[in-house]
Amino acid sequence: MSVDVILRMTGSQKAALYQHLFPDDGREAVALALCGRRDGPDRHCLSVCKIELIPYEECDRRADSITWPTGRLFVLFQEAARRGMAVVKLHSHPGGYDQFSVFDDASDKEFFEAAVSWTENPLPHASVIALPCGRMFGRCQSPSGQFQPLELVSIAGDSIEYWFDQPSEFVPEFADRHAQVLGNTTITIMRRLRAVVVGCSGTGSPTVEQFYRLGIGELVLVDPDHVGIENLNRIVNSREADVLRKRPKVHVLERAIHATGLGTTVIALPFDLTDPAVIRQVATCDVIFGCVDSVFARHVLNKLASTYCIPYFDIGVGLKADGNGGISHVSGAINYLQPDGSSLLSRGAFSLDDVQADALRRANPDEYADRVASGYIAGADVARPAVITVNMIFSGLGVFEFLNRLHQMRDDPNAGFAMQRISLSHSFSDVYGDGPRCMVVSRYLGQGDLQPLLGMPELSEAAEVEHGVRD
Ligand SMILES: [Zn+2]
Repeated sequence: MSVDVILRMTGSQKAALYQHLFPDDGREAVALALCGRRDGPDRHCLSVCKIELIPYEECDRRADSITWPTGRLFVLFQEAARRGMAVVKLHSHPGGYDQFSVFDDASDKEFFEAAVSWTENPLPHASVIALPCGRMFGRCQSPSGQFQPLELVSIAGDSIEYWFDQPSEFVPEFADRHAQVLGNTTITIMRRLRAVVVGCSGTGSPTVEQFYRLGIGELVLVDPDHVGIENLNRIVNSREADVLRKRPKVHVLERAIHATGLGTTVIALPFDLTDPAVIRQVATCDVIFGCVDSVFARHVLNKLASTYCIPYFDIGVGLKADGNGGISHVSGAINYLQPDGSSLLSRGAFSLDDVQADALRRANPDEYADRVASGYIAGADVARPAVITVNMIFSGLGVFEFLNRLHQMRDDPNAGFAMQRISLSHSFSDVYGDGPRCMVVSRYLGQGDLQPLLGMPELSEAAEVEHGVRD
């Protein structure tokens, strides 16, 4: 199987690169990036961790070529070798030439040979061209020594950009009505994206329902639970027979997606997010939707999204019942997290103490129960109230937020909508821009595969043997 190579960066990283690569003098400029890797079986993802701008005065800059000293490159190769990372060379074509030049061919050949020999590792490095229009494209060297285009360059910023190597023009007939709103380009991009929905219950199942009817290319579904009688009030497409057969939620949704026949490919993972094989699969995705209650899972997803440079949407619903059929609060929040921005933690969605308590609940339920009983930690309500109507509102708002960042529909800039908090019972709606960068989460930015995964001892490799999921 051929492996697609993908490059990811944040909106801030792209802005810094573009400021350097296009100084408005009509001449080329060059930069380097150190990238973490997700070395998957069908996708090799490079995530920008650190950028090194090559000063103009060190280069011989022309309108159609650039020569630069390699001293900084070799220092970066050494760091890449030590950390199992990749080096990406980026330069501009200020005239908009949208191909590699003959000069680039010679330069890249030397670059790739030097990369392999300095890092003593056959895994890919990349060379990227930036165009004034904002498009970036690139290539790596295949194992047989040929140039291989990067399948995708993605940017997770206030807007989310996906630049495929070979843009497709095909809009399927079923998508015609929503293509009129979102535009054909957005539809063709979505047709090739791999999205993951973690949590396939109350807010997860309507999110999945929207994604495949919008024509998303691939859906990864993660949820370890099977359908219970208590889920029939809100899991879209679940049936009584699923309860009787204890069918996993991910398989219920997979069945509906296949039966509808709109061509979405499904990877159904009936396992916990903290299974290392699941983490690695999620890390290959182009966008993450978190539809989970667990504080620990939300924190893990936030870290994962930073570590592998993926845009992350978190959907949360809060219903407080008074126990007598009355209600004290109906609210929800949509958070969009950029890999180098603020985090759920720094936004105050939860604290590190909450994360640790939830981790304890998962790892050692007896000790957790003891601590709750003795009042050291507040217990989680495992049978919280849930109403499908409320779930669907916030699931819809979450997917709408993603669509706006692909193809803006609202008047106000995306930057002001990092967090939306809406109360349906108390009639308020607040939106907030991104806060300061979270130093707990975003210090993992672009680091890629770590040992242990995400730098978290809880994600050791022991669990994967049990499930037999491999990549
Ligand atoms: Zn060039």
